[in-house]
Amino acid sequence: MRSSSRTVWVASALLIVSLCAPTPGMASDVAQPRLDPFERCLQTLRTSRRGRKISVPTWALVRGVRPDTAVLSHLDAQPEFTLPIWDYVAVMADDERVRDGLERLTQHRAIFDAVATRYDVDAETVAAVWGIESNFGRGQGTFSVLRSLATLSCAGRRQTYFRGELLAALRIVQAGHIPADRFLGSWAGAFGQTQFMPGVFWWRAVDFDGDGRRDLMDNAGDALASTANYLHQAGWRRGVPWGFEVQLPGGDSVPFETLGEGRRIRRSLAEWSRRGVTRIDGTPLVSATADSLLQAGLFLPAGLAGPRFLVTSNFSAVFSYNAAESYTLAIVQLADRLRGGGAFVRAWPTDDLGLSRAERREVQTLLIARGHDIGPVDALLTPRTRSAVQAEQRRIGQPATGRPGQKLLAALRAP
Ligand code: CA
Repeated sequence: MRSSSRTVWVASALLIVSLCAPTPGMASDVAQPRLDPFERCLQTLRTSRRGRKISVPTWALVRGVRPDTAVLSHLDAQPEFTLPIWDYVAVMADDERVRDGLERLTQHRAIFDAVATRYDVDAETVAAVWGIESNFGRGQGTFSVLRSLATLSCAGRRQTYFRGELLAALRIVQAGHIPADRFLGSWAGAFGQTQFMPGVFWWRAVDFDGDGRRDLMDNAGDALASTANYLHQAGWRRGVPWGFEVQLPGGDSVPFETLGEGRRIRRSLAEWSRRGVTRIDGTPLVSATADSLLQAGLFLPAGLAGPRFLVTSNFSAVFSYNAAESYTLAIVQLADRLRGGGAFVRAWPTDDLGLSRAERREVQTLLIARGHDIGPVDALLTPRTRSAVQAEQRRIGQPATGRPGQKLLAALRAP
């Protein structure tokens, strides 16, 4: 859940200074003239009406904190916005995550069953969010949530939003839900096994095991129930499909009228059927789990050239968790695969498909074998990995995009 993800920011030290100008007439400025703009910005928040509701010992947790430049450098570099959608889905819904997800579903069967019943959200969708947000709890983020949010409260264009998030985060610690010294998360302040923003915590997180704490970091039950609660409140209904891959009439040659259609322009399956749309295998749209009145919109994530889908309000519920179509498609694809379904049938419009994590690690291992210093083999497209990919692409005469795909992997495998 990354609420800051759609805004492209320009962050610089200058911006921090200019946007944290002192508030005229504040007594504290007179009393402490040596505060720098960042400190003054935090002090303004601390002495605001909402800030005064946080205790002095809790505020002491951010006393002396300095802005984190690494947080600012992440502002416009999120993978789902820079990778082609077929790369994103390939790495997020890969075989390894399907295998892990099936294991977790077995291991936590009682929790998943209870959560599904209580919040009317199917276990596989909750498991898919868990798998993609934190690799089933393994990667919850290494940034200090309080420091990240303090930084974003006083730099960048959405300071008002992040100040609310910082106050929400401080209240989480103050209320004893998460210990301050364990409070780590993403650069944007999302934390826990399913990456909640602190503000969302206060209106959607639940205490599943009843111990008085909503522990989204160390308690899988609390995290999974909170995610199910979020999806339920966003409109997810169990037993309703998120949608399905479809065939449009006329094959590839005759254009289907898509003008004015979109995933939010929903029509009944009966109407889509009248227009000649079928499931991807040619069977009728209406089935035991999808009645003729079910409303769905046409979703073409890569245009008419790629896979085509009809998607329901359940798809929108997942989209609200992290507003990116690539993210949403990866979640529903992974959930389908956890139910035993297959990958999408129609090919993506590319001749160079994306890599799974296993394939990314293989690329990294082959780069190291060719003498590149890329750091650990971790399946992450770090700047060093991308540079090495570019160097190899130049060497073998591929466009030096820094994006590793199947073509690069095949070339590196060759002796
Ligand atoms: Ca709890």
